[in-house]
Amino acid sequence: MKITKVTPIFCDGGWRAFTFVKVETDEGLVGYGECTDNSAAFGVAGCVRDLEPRLIGKDPRAVERLYREMGHRFQHNPGGIAQKAIAGIEIALWDIKAKALNFPLYELFGGPVNDKIRVYWSHCGTYRVRNPELYPDKPALKTYDDIARLGEEVAASGYTALKTNILTPGEPPRMLWAMEQNIDTGILKTIDRLMSTFRKAVGDKVDLCLDLNFNFKTDGFIQIARVVEPYNLMWLEMDVYDPAALLQVKESTRVPICSGESVYNMKGYLPYLEKHAMDVCMIDLPWNGYIESRRVAALADTYEMVTAPHNYYTHLSTFANAHFCASIPNFKIMETDVDSVPWRDDITTEIPDIRDGYLHLPKKPGIGIELNEKEIARHPWPK
Ligand SMILES: [Mg+2]
Repeated sequence: MKITKVTPIFCDGGWRAFTFVKVETDEGLVGYGECTDNSAAFGVAGCVRDLEPRLIGKDPRAVERLYREMGHRFQHNPGGIAQKAIAGIEIALWDIKAKALNFPLYELFGGPVNDKIRVYWSHCGTYRVRNPELYPDKPALKTYDDIARLGEEVAASGYTALKTNILTPGEPPRMLWAMEQNIDTGILKTIDRLMSTFRKAVGDKVDLCLDLNFNFKTDGFIQIARVVEPYNLMWLEMDVYDPAALLQVKESTRVPICSGESVYNMKGYLPYLEKHAMDVCMIDLPWNGYIESRRVAALADTYEMVTAPHNYYTHLSTFANAHFCASIPNFKIMETDVDSVPWRDDITTEIPDIRDGYLHLPKKPGIGIELNEKEIARHPWPK
C-alpha cells in the first residue's frame, strides 16, 4: 500500500477553522486526522503541504517510521504548528493502519482498558457568551440566575462534570481574555460569584473545573486558587510555560491543579513531571499525535499522575481521543464540547455515543468516523 495524496482540509468552525488532514492510498483506503489550531490554520496546513512530498509513495502502515521522517524534516522547528501538522497526518496514518487490519484503533494499542470514557461538558457558557449568534435557541446569560440554570442544564443532561471560564453575566455577557495578565479585585469577585453560583446550582452532583488559560501570571493564579478553595473543584486549570512557576501555584493551594494542554512531546512534559508541578496532566492529541500522547501519558503514569485529554474540536477529534483514552491506564476524564457550530453534527459520518456523562467506545475499524466532505464544502474557511 502506498500513499498517493496528503491534503489539509478546512471547515468553518465559527471563530476558527476546523482543520483536518486526509491521507489517500493507492488501494482506496483513506485516513482522516484532525489538527485544529485556534489561530494558525494556514500555518498548520502549510506544514502539511511541506510534509506531503516526504510521504508520497511510502507505506502508510509504517507509522513510527513515517513519524520519525516527519520529525526529521522539521527538526529545526520542533513543537508548535509543525507538531500539529505531523499529528494530523500521524492520526490519519493510524486510521488507515487500523482500517487495513479491520480493528478499532484501540485494539492496536492493547485496549480497551475501559468500554466507556467519562467526559465533561467543557466551555460551559463560554461559547454562548463569545458567539451568541451561533446559539439562538439557548438562553442568554444575563444574570447569575441564568448561570444557575446553565448548571442545572448540565446536571439534567447526565454529565457529571463541567468546566467553565471566567464569565460575567450581563447584557451583553463578557468573557475575560486578558493580554495584561493582571489580577484585580473585580476579577476575584467575579470568579467567586461564578463558582459559588455553579456549586449551589449543581450541589454535589456535578464536578466543577475552572480554566484560567494564559490569563494571569503566578500572583494572579495563586490569588484565584485561594478564592475558589471553598467550592471543592475537581481542578483549577492554567497554562504556564515555566514548571517552577506552576509548582509555586500548586504548592500554594489545596485545589488540584491541571495543566499541560500547550506542551509538546515527552521532552516538553518531562520538566513539569519531574517537579510534580501539576496534579492532572492535560494532553492534546490533535496537537501531539498518538505516538507522543501515549508516551507522555506513560511518562505521567511513572510519576503517579492522572491524565485528562484536551479536546475542544469536532467529533473526529472526540473519536480519535476515545482510542487514546481507552488505551492508557492513568486516564481520568476527557474534555468534550457540547456547544459548537450548528453544523458540527453534519460534517462527520458519526456522532459520539454519550450517555449519562460517558462516551461509549466506537466499534468500527480505524478511528470509526469519516469526514463528510460534501457537507464540509458547504462551510468553507475563510468565510
Ligand atoms: Mg485549558
